[in-house]
Amino acid sequence: MTLHPALNGKRACIFDAGGTLVHPDWSRLSHIAEQVSGRVFEAGEMDRAFGEMLRAVGLEMQREGFVLPDEMKRSHWTFRRIYRALGLDESTCDSVVEQLDGAHLDRHLWSGVNTEVPRVLDDLKRQGLLLAVISNTEDGRLADSLDAAGIRDRFDLLIDSHLVGLRKPDAAIFQLALDRLTLKADDAAFVGDSYVHDALAAQAIGLRGILLDPLNLHPESVCPRIRSLSELIDSH
Ligand SMILES: [Mg+2]
Repeated sequence: MTLHPALNGKRACIFDAGGTLVHPDWSRLSHIAEQVSGRVFEAGEMDRAFGEMLRAVGLEMQREGFVLPDEMKRSHWTFRRIYRALGLDESTCDSVVEQLDGAHLDRHLWSGVNTEVPRVLDDLKRQGLLLAVISNTEDGRLADSLDAAGIRDRFDLLIDSHLVGLRKPDAAIFQLALDRLTLKADDAAFVGDSYVHDALAAQAIGLRGILLDPLNLHPESVCPRIRSLSELIDSH
């Protein structure tokens, strides 16, 4: 097995959750939107709209100095934004989000996981790496999300922004993870799909930032980029 060069000599690999380890359950999300609006949504178009939305949000927040706008305090604001971007009007979005609230209580909406992920995590563990997650959540349900995705038990540490009162890109949340793992910044890599909130923020405090960029949206990245988590470890 060969580790990605960015993991050489590291003792821990810390991950972002949403968009990195877990993904929106697009089949449920498209089904709910279709029932409310009568329009059919393809998983692929939603996934792309989501990636583009996150990229725009990263740039926006960097410009605004990471002050959380009111819009982002509303539940499921990311989904609201993509349904808007895909052409639903405001009141239809309200109805969709209302349905999402109920569905999310039943089962976390971020419960999709790419098929290679459990294997990649197991392989990294076999290489002796500690595994952790730092996630900015809206509602303190990181553990539920990883549970619904079936990968929670693979991690040595979970840090949920809502529960610790700190959010990425604040250096303090990365430091908290390092303290709990009793590691120095130089000992760990951080893998995430947000250029600003994950890769650059991690790099700024001395972690090795790795950007997960499956749609090739960040050619400007100064951090190493991977297209899929399977690039972290080559099992052949
Ligand atoms: Mg993310």
